[in-house]
Amino acid sequence: MGKHILILEGDGIGPEIVREAVRVLDVVNRQFNLGITTEHGLMGGCSIDAHGVPLTDETLARARKADAILLGAVGGPKWDKLDRAIRPEKGLLKIRSQLGLYANLRPALLYPQLVEASSLKPEVVSGLDILIVRELAGGIYFGEPRGIRVLENGEREGYNTYKYSESEIIRIGRTAFEMARKRNGKVCSVDKANVLEATMLWREVMDELHKDYPDVELSHMYVDNAAMQLVRAPKQFDVLVTGNMFGDILSDAAAMLTGSIGMLPSASLDKDGRGMYEPCHGSAPDIAGQNIANPLATILSVSMMLRYSLNEPAVADAIEAAVGKVLDQGYRTADIYTEGKTKVSTSQMGDAVVAALN
Ligand code: NAD
Repeated sequence: MGKHILILEGDGIGPEIVREAVRVLDVVNRQFNLGITTEHGLMGGCSIDAHGVPLTDETLARARKADAILLGAVGGPKWDKLDRAIRPEKGLLKIRSQLGLYANLRPALLYPQLVEASSLKPEVVSGLDILIVRELAGGIYFGEPRGIRVLENGEREGYNTYKYSESEIIRIGRTAFEMARKRNGKVCSVDKANVLEATMLWREVMDELHKDYPDVELSHMYVDNAAMQLVRAPKQFDVLVTGNMFGDILSDAAAMLTGSIGMLPSASLDKDGRGMYEPCHGSAPDIAGQNIANPLATILSVSMMLRYSLNEPAVADAIEAAVGKVLDQGYRTADIYTEGKTKVSTSQMGDAVVAALN
């Protein structure tokens, strides 16, 4: 039976960029006879406006049934003053936790055509192709107890709990090893095992799990060194696996190595490989409604969806090749524009990718 996709455009530039990604999905669906069906739903500010909450139970139920979810982005100043419990971002956290999306994959891939857009020297970043695997459902962002309390001397104290169970480490470790098998066969596990017991266990469990993947090379690195190595010699990495907080920080640093947030897709997967796919950037309210946003991160999210949830790697390759071709042709949205290139709108970039696929 054909696969079914739930599309959540979200807010701000969401509808504009998702429109182009869906056009690309429609084209490959026909070309490769994939039999994919789609439906649309609301999440974020648009859902608050329509239903009073960022994610309704009905939309969540449809998300559970779908094979994959394509998301634009959520949020914007219109909803910033609402009570924290019903802000747009709550919809995102809810769908991640309810669907058990614990593995966040963020590739940092530098297209050779955009090497000038990076803040690092071309020789340091050209050919860069890293995959960061971040644990998304545990660690210090979720650990209990947490809070702000008043001590006996009247002073306030903030506290959080950093913990990972063996099973949580094993499932994210497996994701990293499996990904490395499809790439260059190297995993670097990032921790702070010299200071934090939680990550001493992380390192031990990664070593034990490695016995199941003897064909993959495993190394360990402390997070402070990893931050340094990412800007010094990022090409040494293939797959980098780490916990929620370290992954949050390192994946943003890795993203900027590629020069533009408008180019970076992401995937958040559950234990069966079902997932939600979205660009790494937000809803960009400053440029919403102007048809100037870069749709390529969302188009590349469709490609990740085909690769990881729909098991169609050849189709994913075709989309990535089409994106490479439009960059070769010199088409650039404003965020990646440099002199001498052809500046295009959101929809013109979509046109160019569709033409490259045809
Ligand atoms: P942002 O990523 O939306 O924007 C940062 C800057 O990058 C802006 O100048 C924006 O114009 C630019 N930019 C982002 N995407 C672009 C694209 N595709 N093409 C061209 N330029 C692009 O981050 P922000 O401004 O901090 O946040 C705006 C809103 O998005 C906030 O409400 C925030 O909460 C939300 N947000 C949502 C997500 C998500 O849905 N996953 C992620 C991050 C931020």
